[in-house]
Amino acid sequence: MLAELLNLFVCEASAARFLRGVRWAGGIRCPYCSSEAIIRWAWYRRVYQRYRCKACRRTFNDKTGTISAYSRIPLNEWLFLAYLLGCLHISILEASRKLERSYGAFYRSARKIIYAIHRCRRRLWGSRKLPGDVEMDEVYVKAGLKGRGNYWRILSLGRKPRCRGLKARRGRGSWKKDMPPIIILVERRGVERYIPSTDVEKRTIEKIVSRHVEPGSRIYTDSFTSYTILQTLGFKHERVNHSIRESARGNIHTNNCENRASILKPWLAIHRGVSKDNLDVYLSFFHLQRTTSKLPNLQKIKLIIKT
Ligand SMILES: [Zn+2]
Repeated sequence: MLAELLNLFVCEASAARFLRGVRWAGGIRCPYCSSEAIIRWAWYRRVYQRYRCKACRRTFNDKTGTISAYSRIPLNEWLFLAYLLGCLHISILEASRKLERSYGAFYRSARKIIYAIHRCRRRLWGSRKLPGDVEMDEVYVKAGLKGRGNYWRILSLGRKPRCRGLKARRGRGSWKKDMPPIIILVERRGVERYIPSTDVEKRTIEKIVSRHVEPGSRIYTDSFTSYTILQTLGFKHERVNHSIRESARGNIHTNNCENRASILKPWLAIHRGVSKDNLDVYLSFFHLQRTTSKLPNLQKIKLIIKT
């Protein structure tokens, strides 16, 4: 398995062979009109097979229509980047340093990978709601506006761009205070969701819950006042009271949520401060890593290609 994995990164030809195998596993289809009447049509850059569609007469190659299509870096390095990000969980900056490539080229490819995963998650979630026993809790993370692209947006807020890191502020965090809450929902049988939120007001909680949890489900929370709205919305609501040092009462607890929060925080810290605009995208990435944590690395790379 390891030899197979390392072989991907040796040269562009071996990477292209891998892409071909994964992409056309269910037969070759035209990416423009999805016809299956395809003939081989020479090579593209010597390593990628080109094809011609008999139906719409357009040509395409192994890369066409995938997220690696317009990348500036060769495919074997692109796959290695996917491996670093998806399997080893290294930040983009670190990855570009490790491969001695410019940050710019790497950042563009890495961003594409992460955004593709994000779109994929949206599609997967759809309108499916969590049924049964669901735990709910919130965690606050430091996330402001980051990146040079935000320069004018920051000025429009009437302040200068920050030259030092974010400071923690007192009180409950919110989007405005650069401490956005992330609502964690864990269904007791294992399905989990991470939803960035602007605040934890009752109305916001109502919106999130009605979008993500099946009506009539049982929801476990701590004794934070905003959660009292759950009962009026028709959910069965069980609360554990942390303020009297109660961590669990029988099966009433939010330990699964707290466990996920303790994994999420150091995970985000690796990226050295995520912009709050991109928080949702990074959470999708985190979610993918959580759901594929037991898969072999080769499978994970296949998943990333297929997004
Ligand atoms: Zn076609």
